[in-house]
Amino acid sequence: MMGKKRATAVSGDVAFDAYYAALFGERWPALRAALSEPPSHAVRLNPSREGLIERLAQALERPPVAMAYDRTCYALDRVVAGFASDEAWFLDPASVRVAALLDVMPGQRVLDLCAAPGGKGLALADRLVGEDGALDGELTLNELSDGRRGRLRRAVNGWLPGVAAAAVRVTGHDGSRWGLVAPASYDRVLLDAPCSSEAHVLADASALAQWTPARPRQLAMRQLALLCAAIDACASGGRVVYATCALAGVENDGGVGRALAKRRDVVVRETIGDDDLRLQGGEATGFGWRWLPDVSDEGPMAVAVLLKL
Ligand code: SAM
Repeated sequence: MMGKKRATAVSGDVAFDAYYAALFGERWPALRAALSEPPSHAVRLNPSREGLIERLAQALERPPVAMAYDRTCYALDRVVAGFASDEAWFLDPASVRVAALLDVMPGQRVLDLCAAPGGKGLALADRLVGEDGALDGELTLNELSDGRRGRLRRAVNGWLPGVAAAAVRVTGHDGSRWGLVAPASYDRVLLDAPCSSEAHVLADASALAQWTPARPRQLAMRQLALLCAAIDACASGGRVVYATCALAGVENDGGVGRALAKRRDVVVRETIGDDDLRLQGGEATGFGWRWLPDVSDEGPMAVAVLLKL
């Protein structure tokens, strides 16, 4: 009786395992175990503050090595103590890749559609702040949740020089409607979408008990609306980066494929070479790349780069 119940479970840990075992096959047990391990870390040091690299060297007891694709970030083997939140931002190394893949350049108009708590948004901001401490370009950080948006605004104010912080727009719209509000208005659009975040589900017994296959399905619908809005907000010749920390393909390549069917004025960027350092350790997927912690010691993170025609 017990065995039959387990085999037909439609929710909870048994259904969760069955769903992801079907997606990942023999890889699933190792991937599941890796998801429950402490995540890898990188640290972004605030480029407007003096003496942080020296303090990091002291904490690590070795010279820190900057990441090749973002010289303000350093890979860590552990979180180091003693830094304030406006001095150092700890994040998954794969998040550094996602922000770098947007290729933000000074003078550009940049939109981060789902921006809180702000790790990637601050990376985008750092690319726009000039030697004079002013913002060279435009940056809009959007976040629907009031509480998370408050935290985002405080992070921006603490991190950036005052004049640059004041120039950053922090907004609270439903990102899926953005394409209607400001169509074709940005050179760069980041969509780091709300997603299944299976690593968090596994870490939370009540989220795992409530899990059903409807979760990735419903999130995929929200992500598609957000991705279409991101594409619509991007100007011709601009770039959209779509990222999630979900494992489920329906939220990654699946969503990109559906967006490409709905929007004919965008293509997947195929010319990023396999030798691009930002893609190191990643696995190519149909439309992008992913980093999964059983293999790459980063992530989970999936990303696709789209070009607006
Ligand atoms: N990019 C962020 C970072 O690097 O710190 C993480 C973003 S997190 C994956 C997704 C965020 O999207 C959450 O803060 C969530 O509240 C927000 N969100 C969810 N639905 C949204 C919507 N329709 N419009 C705008 N933001 C939304």
